[in-house]
Amino acid sequence: MRKRKCRFCGREARLVVRQANLALCEEHFISWFERRVERTLRRYGMVGPGDRVLVAVSGGKDSLALLSALATLSERMGFEITALTLDLGIKGNAYSERSVEMARRASERLGVEHIIVSVKGRYGFSLPEALRIDRRPACSLCGLIKRYAMTDVGREGGFDVLATGHTLDDMARFILASYMTGALRELVRLTPVVEPRLPGLPKLIKPLYESLEEHIKIYVDIKGLEYIPDGCPYALTAPSDRLRVLLDQVEQESPGMKHSLVRNYVKHIQPALSAYLRDSLEPLRACSKCGMPSSGDICAFCRLRERVLKRLKR
Ligand code: SF4
Ligand code: ZN
Ligand code: ZN
Repeated sequence: MRKRKCRFCGREARLVVRQANLALCEEHFISWFERRVERTLRRYGMVGPGDRVLVAVSGGKDSLALLSALATLSERMGFEITALTLDLGIKGNAYSERSVEMARRASERLGVEHIIVSVKGRYGFSLPEALRIDRRPACSLCGLIKRYAMTDVGREGGFDVLATGHTLDDMARFILASYMTGALRELVRLTPVVEPRLPGLPKLIKPLYESLEEHIKIYVDIKGLEYIPDGCPYALTAPSDRLRVLLDQVEQESPGMKHSLVRNYVKHIQPALSAYLRDSLEPLRACSKCGMPSSGDICAFCRLRERVLKRLKR
């Protein structure tokens, strides 16, 4: 095969970004990747100068790429970052222990302040304990706990923004899954930015909304960031894995397909759906126990917590 040259410096290219037919050396791949994240931040008005951004870091490759790219961009764009890792208490594969350790090492290397919060320590129960009592699928219960705890920590620390490592691949999969099951209320919320639903809460942003996992992997590998490979003992039960395989196959045959699916959703489908659902979406109010957004008097997390703590005391 003919050797290609880096589009920017003419040195021998180490990789080709298929979606843009762009040959790059390692150094210019890094700057290309970070510029794309910067473009996403600017396009959706995700952060402003002086913002304090809390970055959710699980120790997996996506969240470490997020932390590393934001560490570079925070200097260029004038915002501040702090990393947050939740210890969910998952003992299988020493998953939580390893994920906290990977996040700690990366934060130290990047010179970013790192907050570690034990869910058991803060709320009195771990994810495995909740799973013994609640019948919801592991990842949906885990999602509820993580969303709540991250927003809660963000609120307590007075952060303006909470950034999560959801990728273009995640968004394509979520959009398709919600579409297939007709879950319109979930579908309409898959936006790159979610404004705070009550005063005093951080705005939620997804800076990797336009970044593909295949590029994220190359980015963390070149940067030499050590991450925890998939290994959550509950991950095998996730039904969306088949959709992942399907989308990967289509992307292989038609590079750029995931990007068009997500871009067209944000540009055309989400605004139309949001107008259609405007009057039927329930208004949110403050949970009477904890003050976080809730559709009823008591939020889903407080209801879960009460039930789990009661059972643990028996
Ligand atoms: Fe939580 Fe599921 Fe991720 Fe495990 S795989 S950490 S249960 S969301
Ligand atoms: Zn180059
Ligand atoms: Zn509550």
